[in-house]
Amino acid sequence: MSVRSFQARVECDKQTMEHLWRTHKVFNERLPEIIKILFKMKRGECGQNDKQKSLYKSISQSILEANAQNADYLLNSVSIKGWKPGTAKKYRNASFTWADDAAKLSSQGIHVYDKKQVLGDLPGMMSQMVCRQSVEAISGHIELTKKWEKEHNEWLKEKEKWESEDEHKKYLDLREKFEQFEQSIGGKITKRRGRWHLYLKWLSDNPDFAAWRGNKAVINPLSEKAQIRINKAKPNKKNSVERDEFFKANPEMKALDNLHGYYERNFVRRRKTKKNPDGFDHKPTFTLPHPTIHPRWFVFNKPKTNPEGYRKLILPKKAGDLGSLEMRLLTGEKNKGNYPDDWISVKFKADPRLSLIRPVKGRRVVRKGKEQGQTKETDSYEFFDKHLKKWRPAKLSGVKLIFPDKTPKAAYLYFTCDIPDEPLTETAKKIQWLETGDVTKKGKKRKKKVLPHGLVSCAVDLSMRRGTTGFATLCRYENGKIHILRSRNLWVGYKEGKGCHPYRWTEGPDLGHIAKHKREIRILRSKRGKPVKGEESHIDLQKHIDYMGEDRFKKAARTIVNFALNTENAASKNGFYPRADVLLLENLEGLIPDAEKERGINRALAGWNRRHLVERVIEMAKDAGFKRRVFEIPPYGTSQVCSKCGALGRRYSIIRENNRREIRFGYVEKLFACPNCGYCANADHNASVNLNRRFLIEDSFKSYYDWKRLSEKKQKEEIETIESKLMDKLCAMHKISRGSISK
Ligand SMILES: [Zn+2]
Repeated sequence: MSVRSFQARVECDKQTMEHLWRTHKVFNERLPEIIKILFKMKRGECGQNDKQKSLYKSISQSILEANAQNADYLLNSVSIKGWKPGTAKKYRNASFTWADDAAKLSSQGIHVYDKKQVLGDLPGMMSQMVCRQSVEAISGHIELTKKWEKEHNEWLKEKEKWESEDEHKKYLDLREKFEQFEQSIGGKITKRRGRWHLYLKWLSDNPDFAAWRGNKAVINPLSEKAQIRINKAKPNKKNSVERDEFFKANPEMKALDNLHGYYERNFVRRRKTKKNPDGFDHKPTFTLPHPTIHPRWFVFNKPKTNPEGYRKLILPKKAGDLGSLEMRLLTGEKNKGNYPDDWISVKFKADPRLSLIRPVKGRRVVRKGKEQGQTKETDSYEFFDKHLKKWRPAKLSGVKLIFPDKTPKAAYLYFTCDIPDEPLTETAKKIQWLETGDVTKKGKKRKKKVLPHGLVSCAVDLSMRRGTTGFATLCRYENGKIHILRSRNLWVGYKEGKGCHPYRWTEGPDLGHIAKHKREIRILRSKRGKPVKGEESHIDLQKHIDYMGEDRFKKAARTIVNFALNTENAASKNGFYPRADVLLLENLEGLIPDAEKERGINRALAGWNRRHLVERVIEMAKDAGFKRRVFEIPPYGTSQVCSKCGALGRRYSIIRENNRREIRFGYVEKLFACPNCGYCANADHNASVNLNRRFLIEDSFKSYYDWKRLSEKKQKEEIETIESKLMDKLCAMHKISRGSISK
């Protein structure tokens, strides 16, 4: 299930805006009343005697743990006379043992509060939402607190463990002296250790520190060479060079200083501004809702619920059109003890994507009650997925009313739309994992997958070089053999929409482009000097880089998913290509075998980019019908082994140097040649076929691992033999005169 939300700006006259704001304001003003009551119940302060107190306490607990949707009904148990516990007893996953006791009290008229008095002046849809949102606010806070408590406990345990180690105990004995020193030099406490000259002088004045682990209590003086190095250092580096030299000469002091630094950073944490007394993060606090300072947003129930929040929704037919709906709003101030409410028609200008949703009549079989078995017509929606080029079922739920400035200047509606994931193909469902009875090294049960006949897999060999996304191969599994169906280089590209060259084909920013901007920002930031706390620098450029990266990843992921689904309806002589049942990607965790040797682009950057891309693809593929059918395949050997015969081959490319064409061998070159069977191909094509082989027929890539086990010298020799075997043939094939140099 993916959730998409769409924003729409309300276009209305002044009076309607007043109604909208009043609804928001009254809602937020009334929330604290119920929140306070719930907190009181939770603390056990409600009720006349101990028995009632504990009863109300357990009621509040159940309400806060249950779904907030039912909060209104469950709160009735403590606020209306003659409450009936029937539904509460049937409530899913909960045993409300308090239900009968609560009903007894309710029949006697003993309440925590009187619903009529507290919420009676509000229309039904508002009082229901006040109850729901109160519970939601508190349970959200409880969740945060629980998380905090868990982390706090872990931190305390870690601290205790650290402090109990012998070596650390010795440091803790001396810690008092460190604290005394830090206090004696005055100034801001976080800066004290930063004054290295005072700190070093103090350390060298106390030779007994050097004996903290039982060594000699001597301070070793700096050598002459060290003194020269200090004198030579640039003024801004002088301190750090002096510090390094001092610690080099006195390793015992360094060890002690390391422990002190670690303890200060992790357990004292002076730099933290919001702290718990023991040094951990501040415990989450609860803020009462307020219409302008800390608002919660009102949610209008979807149509045909009780009570309805909005109705008669007309979505815009095309981008730019206005949509409209009728909302239940408070239309005036309190009159005769009640807030008047009415249906008010509101127009909105929506996100263009909202025009891709259309209402449809669905059918549903009634499961319960008198009309069981009958089919009923229902209202539902469909969403046009422009990437998959099809209408997909969608569910519109409540509409949220939001004031972005927290003032009645502008109002927005938030539509949330749930879109179920596309189903798996029938073949993909048939993949089985059978237990072999073996156990892996980690103690898990080893499983063997059984693939159904006719499974189609799509493997992508990722490469984020200039404009390209990777090389994809579509293969079918038949009787233990692989048939290659389709093979294509995937690239990201689009036509420029605006600017100086509309309709020009652009590859989009490549990694080099992004890397260039990253260098730029680094230089700019270093020139700017020390940043002011809480302030960001070069926001525009940083945003540009972020968007550029994100855009590139999304587009690249989309091309991969589109290829796997064949959304373009590409065809061969034998008809349309089938859609893939499974998607195979390289597993890039840990080592990136070939990127290590990749030129030009920073390795860390390339690694990070690949990981990011893989995450995007998985996310997108899940939505498009590959849920849990995206597999990450170990890429070891896939780019160096021949996909026809399994022998170790070599990658090469043809370069032009000194006006002569030459063959260059390497680990990341574009072409691939096999010395055993003579197979030559695009190296990425070969690698992606190998990914398919590894998944579909569990090829072991023996030749690669055999080679890998050799010593470094032997490995080199082996490669040289392969290269010399290939050289003649390749030169003849590419019509290159001999005498070329190999690298
Ligand atoms: Zn071969």
